[in-house]
This record gives sequence, structure tokens and C-alpha cells, in this order.
Amino acid sequence: MNKQASCNDESDPHSLSFEQARERIEKSVAAVKGKRCVTIREALGRVLADDVCSPMNVPPFINSAMDGYAINADDISASGESVLKVTGKSFAGRPFEGSVNKGECVRIMTGAVVPQGADTVVMQEHAEVDGDNIKIGSEHKKGQNVRLPGDDFSTGDIIIKAGERLSPAKLGLLASVGVTEFNIIRTPVVAFFSTGDELKGVGQTLQPGDIYDSNRYILFGMLQKMGVECIDMGVIADIKEQIELTLKEAAAIADVVITSGGASVGEADYIKEILDEIGEVNFWKIAMKPGKPLAFGKINNALFFGLPGNPVSAMATFYQFVQPSIKLLEGEKSDHTLRLTARCLSKLKKRPGRKDFQRGIVKTDENNALVVDTTGIQGSHMLSSMSKANCFIVLPAEAGDIEAGTEVEVQPFSDLI
Ligand code: AMP
Ligand code: MG
Repeated sequence: MNKQASCNDESDPHSLSFEQARERIEKSVAAVKGKRCVTIREALGRVLADDVCSPMNVPPFINSAMDGYAINADDISASGESVLKVTGKSFAGRPFEGSVNKGECVRIMTGAVVPQGADTVVMQEHAEVDGDNIKIGSEHKKGQNVRLPGDDFSTGDIIIKAGERLSPAKLGLLASVGVTEFNIIRTPVVAFFSTGDELKGVGQTLQPGDIYDSNRYILFGMLQKMGVECIDMGVIADIKEQIELTLKEAAAIADVVITSGGASVGEADYIKEILDEIGEVNFWKIAMKPGKPLAFGKINNALFFGLPGNPVSAMATFYQFVQPSIKLLEGEKSDHTLRLTARCLSKLKKRPGRKDFQRGIVKTDENNALVVDTTGIQGSHMLSSMSKANCFIVLPAEAGDIEAGTEVEVQPFSDLI
């Protein structure tokens, strides 16, 4: 008899390690072809296609970092006080037209142009006003409280690199140099469907043995948060021909095709078989928990991910594999995944063999140290435990049970989950 490995085998020789699987994905996923020219407000969350250089110095002119008085440092006495005559005002957007001569100063506000002849700003708190004059001490230093042109960046500097994702700060950066149009990488299109005879959409009546399909709602949520274009192709029954047809349709319209269910070794699990026939299988089993059956490959030009059916497994594999792949497709160059070390508050059960992504709640204790607790029972069908979590507790493949008090690796969820 041909003995097949089940999903619960801890040491299946046909499984790839988590790290090997990630490496294979990194090697085989390239950015989608195609750029789109957009304006700033269309660009939030998209990935920049070409470097953007600044057409100007920022700040563009010498300006004050404080409210106070613009002076010439030569007027600061070496010891004792200096008295300076206030000859005008320089406000932000309303520069002082004249220049500051010996023995003079100009009232100045934050962001205002430092007038000709001045090179230093004395904070108003450090100046004593006496009629039209001010008195200042000897402690001031030449150039203090002044922002020089280009001290943030200069004309021609690359301010955002191709492959960076545009955050609100970056939109502001583009606006600060007056760049209104630039190229972003085309938004990938992702098509997905659930497979399973037992699945009903919300609003349908459950017959004995049926359950509601949760994975399409999870995928919808995660893909929406990633900002990709998504196409929900519904639920497909465990009929090989129908799954095959839908997969071909999906691959023709999308850059990425995601299914859930049917990726394991049960009698109604066709995903791997179909992928073998109509596409290429790169791998289909990973030594991770939850989520051992994860098919990854290609159907024509589309990337394909066959996620496990159990919702927590589908989420964990999406998070660890589909998300980074979509980021690579979007041309994103940097990986911002945060990994922390936290003290585990309770004992965690684990058998050596698979890398484990347990659901946890990470927080700070009364001493501001990071601690993490489990969300409780870790069934891969238990969305209640997943929905309480704010992190994965990442346990290495070879680890066994974790005693309370042990330092563990924690991967806080990005806002995808
Ligand atoms: P499968 O991977 O098809 O063997 O499914 C594994 C488990 O996940 C079974 O208990 C399925 O009923 C369940 N499952 C599969 N797809 C979904 C789905 N879309 N939503 C909720 N549960 C699912
Ligand atoms: Mg199934």
C-alpha cells in the first residue's frame, strides 16, 4: 500500500522547511510588468516604480526654527549683554525685505526667511524687550535656531526609491517638493475561490454536514487591506473538472490565483493533482503548523497558492507566504516584518517537527517588558482564538513544549489580520 503522509505527521520527509519554502518563493516571484502614472492622492499604499529625485532644496531657503529675533552673530558680546534695535518683522510667507545691519535685529517667526545680514536666531524667551530694543546675553552661538537650505535634502537627491511603498509621510514628502505625478507599479489582480462540497455562502441554509464558508471573507479582508484588486469567484464543489475549469478561468484574468481547501491528501482533495496537470507545482507541503498542505506553483503566467481549508491555517499560510509574494509582485523591495522577543506567560504545547505559528497576545507588563500569552486552544479551525490574537508566537521546528517564563519569538500582526 502506498502510505501517504497525513497533515498531522510531524516529520514528513516530503515537506519543505518553512525557510526553504520562503526561499523558493523569493527566487520565483518577480514584479509584475507595467507602470501607471498617478497623482499623489491616488498613490497611497502603492509601490513606486521609479526613483523620485527632488527638483529643489528642502528647506528651500534659510529659515528660522523658532519664534524670536534674527541677529548677526557678530553682535553677540563676548561677555555681558548686547542691545539690538528691532527694525522689522519676518513672518512665515511674509519675508522682511531689508537687511539686518550692525546693532540691529528683526522679529522672526518659525519658518520665516532669515533676512540678509542675519545668521542666527535668538529665541524670544531669551530676549528681554525694552521698547524698540532687545537685550540678549553672551551665551548664544552663531547659526543657532536656523535651518539651512537643503539641510533635509538637496536638488537632485533621491527622496524615495523605486520599490518603496507610499505611506502618508511619503505622500507629504512628494508634496513638499511639488512633485505631483509619478509612476507606480501596476496593482496586481488576485482571484480567489473556496473549494468544498460542505461550504455554503452566508445567507444560504445549512443542510446537515454543511458549514459556512469563512475563508472567502478572510481572503477578501486581507486582500482589501493589501490594496490589490480582488475577484471573488465563489465556492466551487469538490468536482475535479469544475475546479480545473475555474482555475483556468482565474489564471486568465489574474496575476495571482488563491484557492482554499482540497490541498491535502484526502479523497476529495484535487488541487495538487490539477496543478500538476495544468500548471507547475513548486512545492505543496511545508513543515509548518498550522498549514502543512500549501500548494505553490504557476498556472500559465499566474502565481498559484492552494491554501489549506481550515481557516486558521489559511490565514497563517496567507500571512507567511501569500502576503510576501504579493509584495514581491508589487515590486516592494523592503521587508518590514517585525520580530520581537517576549517572555511567554504560560506553558505552550508543541511536538518537535514543524515550525509552529501559535496565536498569541503580546503586550507590555508593569515593568514595560514584552510578554506574550497564548490565546488558548490552538485548533486550526478555531477562528475565535485567531480573532483574539495580535501576534504569532513563532516556535522553531525542532522545539518541544515551551515552559512558562521562556523567551520566545513573536511576530506582531501587521494590520492585515
Ligand atoms: P480541506 O483542506 O478541504 O480538507 O478542509 C479542511 C477543513 O477546513 C475541513 O474541516 C473543511 O470543512 C474546512 N474548510 C475548508 N474550506 C473552508 C472554508 N472556506 N471556510 C471554512 N472552513 C473550511
Ligand atoms: Mg475539502
